[in-house]
Amino acid sequence: MSSKRYKTCKTCGLTKRLSEFNGHHQTADRKQPHCKSCMSEKILRAKNARVPELPVLSAEGQIEQALKDQIHELENGIERLRAGKIDIQIRHGKVTVTI
Ligand SMILES: [Zn+2]
Repeated sequence: MSSKRYKTCKTCGLTKRLSEFNGHHQTADRKQPHCKSCMSEKILRAKNARVPELPVLSAEGQIEQALKDQIHELENGIERLRAGKIDIQIRHGKVTVTI
């Protein structure tokens, strides 16, 4: 019955041998609508899409900004300390810094 030995891929539009298509239990011809190379490309893209690239980058950016802010604050503190604008008191082994 199955005289159809070629199938057109829905993704790339190329007509390929049925052996170029993976099996699928839900389709009439029991073959995937996409050829093997398109399927592997799709899987690859899906895998890449799962990598949360942008959130990681923005998180890195936020961390970097937070660190820069802290460094800036520390630098300001050092400047104030050098300028004698910071009051440091040591009482009972505890250091109290008043900016
Ligand atoms: Zn294809």
